[in-house]
Amino acid sequence: MTARSEPLTVPAILLRKTEYGESDLILTLLSPDHGRLSVIAKAAKKSRRRFSGVLEVFTELEAVVQHGRGLPRLQEASLKNAFARIREHPLRTGYAGLWAELAHDGAAEELPQGDLYGLLRFALQELDRGELAAELLHLAYLMRLLTLLGHAPCLECCVRCRTPAEKLSARDLRVDLGRGGVCCLRCAEGKEGEPVMALSRGTAKQLLWVGRADAARLSRLKTSPLGLAEGRDFLERFLVVHFGRLPRSLQVLRQLRDGEDLRR
Ligand SMILES: [Zn+2]
Repeated sequence: MTARSEPLTVPAILLRKTEYGESDLILTLLSPDHGRLSVIAKAAKKSRRRFSGVLEVFTELEAVVQHGRGLPRLQEASLKNAFARIREHPLRTGYAGLWAELAHDGAAEELPQGDLYGLLRFALQELDRGELAAELLHLAYLMRLLTLLGHAPCLECCVRCRTPAEKLSARDLRVDLGRGGVCCLRCAEGKEGEPVMALSRGTAKQLLWVGRADAARLSRLKTSPLGLAEGRDFLERFLVVHFGRLPRSLQVLRQLRDGEDLRR
């Protein structure tokens, strides 16, 4: 028998929680140094005292993990940030849930993921603080996530003929989702059977900017509801193509958004 190694203490954000058997939970964590990490929390469903309130999706915690045979075990977890103000709003909870799911799908296992961790933490902290509009943070998160994963949308020029976007008339920008960015009207017309989606030049420019600005600059950005909605529709369609599926929490988020629109 090999000697058990020392338990590992890691900062982490909980990305996914699955019930396992009568009383256990399998958790997927994102940690800056160890990337995506699946652990089992024994008797977590019964022993409320041990993990009380800590094991919720998108909480930030400090986890003590014991490696051994099989799945590493979560020995202890202490809460660092529950992001309680996010959880007061269903729609914000929907955004945070989607961001966690996308981080889950994009994170590498057992490899340093400091940038991804930093991005998710930044987005959750700002959403919790509530000073920036959730819709704007959503665009910032998606742009940065796609860039980190090597799928940044091409917004500066036509993905086919490489004509710079500023040389095209403002009405001539179309989207080629398969090729990963905007294209000019002429290139878009040559393609058969593809749904044509337009994107205004202003929105394309704003997305590039939103993908880089810090929180202070984001807070000074003048946005229109229409521009935000256009950027969002584009990025959400884009990520479905590049992740190869419709994330479950994106469906949930869309239902929540439709509900909000009805109440307006
Ligand atoms: Zn073109």
